[in-house]
Amino acid sequence: MLYFDHNATAPLSPAARAAWLEAQELFPGNPASTHWAGRRAEAALETSRAWLAGWLGCGDADLVFTSGATEAANAVFAHLAHSAGRTAGVMVSAVEHPCVLEAAERWFPSRVVRLPVLSGGVLDLDAASGLLRGGFNAGRPAAVALMAANNETGVIQPWAALRDLCRERDIPFICDATQWVGRLPAEGLGECAFLFASGHKSGAPVGTGFLKVPRGFTGLLSGGDQEDGRRAGTQNVAGAAGLVAALRECEGLLDGVPARLEMRGEAERLLLEALPGGRIVGAGVERLWNTVSLLAPELADCRQRWVVRLDATGVAGSSGSACASGREQSSHVLRAMGVGAGESDRVLRLSSGWGTSLEDWRGVAERMAAVFERWR
Ligand code: PLP
Repeated sequence: MLYFDHNATAPLSPAARAAWLEAQELFPGNPASTHWAGRRAEAALETSRAWLAGWLGCGDADLVFTSGATEAANAVFAHLAHSAGRTAGVMVSAVEHPCVLEAAERWFPSRVVRLPVLSGGVLDLDAASGLLRGGFNAGRPAAVALMAANNETGVIQPWAALRDLCRERDIPFICDATQWVGRLPAEGLGECAFLFASGHKSGAPVGTGFLKVPRGFTGLLSGGDQEDGRRAGTQNVAGAAGLVAALRECEGLLDGVPARLEMRGEAERLLLEALPGGRIVGAGVERLWNTVSLLAPELADCRQRWVVRLDATGVAGSSGSACASGREQSSHVLRAMGVGAGESDRVLRLSSGWGTSLEDWRGVAERMAAVFERWR
């Protein structure tokens, strides 16, 4: 079996598993409890927070542990809606994950400006800068959001440049770093006003994540004063330990990024050789080393998608469409890049992990060639 869906979720890393189990056994108490077991659990949680803060380059008190990116995005827009004026709007890139797009629409109904991307999928920085100058209803937007790297295409966004543009104008900048962390250096991320990520794309347990916030953040969940009153609910001590262990492990692998980029190049060559007429989405722009978004050629009997046929050969990949409540919808990311509806049905996302080898990629290319041979 070949697993190529790390952007959806990555297998739990052995280091994260060991850290999770150890914390679960050693720290059974509730960190909010005042007895010895509670105090020990709290100390373990704060050790995880301190590592994360040092790694991101922010203060410990700036970090809130969450269940992942979706919760964090919702908390951020809820907070902004409560603290901004009733007519204020937000600006978000057109290729954000639905957890950002939909949370923005929910808390700022009809007051969301989508920042366009160029055909390669990279934010149009000139257009964004013009829109920032114009403001929202002639006022400052309540915030601007741009992800660090796109989940569907792997395209890397100019988040640091937009962060700095926002800082010059005193506009809070939000960065969803879910697909970036664990794959590229964390440097500079801690300077974003709001920053969040899920852990499970990089080997941490599902249901773990973090949110970096400015002072005065109110949060979304009430019913307890955990996380300095910014996120009620019993904290996940073992999850935080697993998250840190996974990120630490990935951090130690970052020297391997150039070799991984070479591997991706070779993988793309093999895939295009297997599929004459195919093309790489976002070719020519900077992309994550682990992600290949491939526009595959048309097959006879197009009712069955590439992703389904590949699944039958033992390859787990993902379609270029967002699957919402079991219904396939054409991808807003591909649409924003100018990929036609007929074409986006044929886009396959293959996302690898640190443990993936070139042989694994070769295996995918061979199986794709066999599917193509059979169905063209
Ligand atoms: N943001 C990005 C870029 C993602 O890729 C994902 C998940 O695919 C999310 C947010 C949401 O993450 P979660 O489902 O863990 O909350």
